[in-house]
Amino acid sequence: MTTPRYVLFFLLLISLPGLRASASADALVATTGMIGDVAENVVGDRAKVTTLLGSGIDPHLYKPTRTDIGVLSNAELVLANGLLLEGKMTDALDRLRSAGRSVIAVAERIPRDRLLAPPEFAGHFDPHVWMDPTLWAVVAETIRDAAMERFPAHAATFRSQADDYVRKLADLDRYVSSSMNSIPENARVLVTAHDAFSYFGRRYHLEVVGIQGISTESEAGVKDVERIVAMLVDRKIPAVFVESTVPQKSVEALIEGARARGHHVRIGGELFSDAMGRRGTYEGTYIGMIDHNATLIARALGGSAPAAGFQGKLALTNDHQK
Ligand SMILES: [Zn+2]
Repeated sequence: MTTPRYVLFFLLLISLPGLRASASADALVATTGMIGDVAENVVGDRAKVTTLLGSGIDPHLYKPTRTDIGVLSNAELVLANGLLLEGKMTDALDRLRSAGRSVIAVAERIPRDRLLAPPEFAGHFDPHVWMDPTLWAVVAETIRDAAMERFPAHAATFRSQADDYVRKLADLDRYVSSSMNSIPENARVLVTAHDAFSYFGRRYHLEVVGIQGISTESEAGVKDVERIVAMLVDRKIPAVFVESTVPQKSVEALIEGARARGHHVRIGGELFSDAMGRRGTYEGTYIGMIDHNATLIARALGGSAPAAGFQGKLALTNDHQK
């Protein structure tokens, strides 16, 4: 006697990945790499952490795939940034929440008086909170508390691992401070493709100019470009920066505009704004990402910072364009 066809079909179904209910459940799922990295540092090997958005992915524009929805639904704890960073994922996260799942928007747990609400963002908070390591330490504590509540058996481990990580963030903050303070006063201006660096600028006393707005969804206007070109020329700013998740063309328009007025501006390098570097590299960690940005900015704007960063771990490819 042969096995009935419907039994074979059933066996096939249950063997497909994703259809098995909880056998392969992901413990913690993070949207951005920065959140996933903190979560890994806090939980260590006590829980599995899955990150949805890889290197070079723009969270403002990313639409979750069916696979992502499956991963999110299987998670015991979902960690999102919130404050509308994941613009096209908001509905999916809201649905999970209404279904009673644990979804924590980590940036929304930061005290409101520490958030920026730029007038051009019409009543919303700036979501790019990871750019200030002292705010990211608050996020690490939020993730610690959520993990302790979800997996109480490992609470003590999570607490001590979170303490270690927060100490590293404080070291990072001190390094970035001293690097930024080494930049000559007139050159403390950070010109980038989009407004991801306002928290960085506030923390380290840099004026920040983004050619596009807070979200990468809006295009840069011609007026903005002219205004920024005039500033570059007047204040003799030596460098502007490109970002790994945003196309370069608006930044190139600035360089072209400044050249037409006789001022040579160079591209100071590629900053990590809304995503970290390649997984498995130092720049593919949160600390490596901020170290890379700070080191690159300090060196390009005439300050001093060791080429290999504060821990000697940066890839020595910083000065990629002379
Ligand atoms: Zn952004």
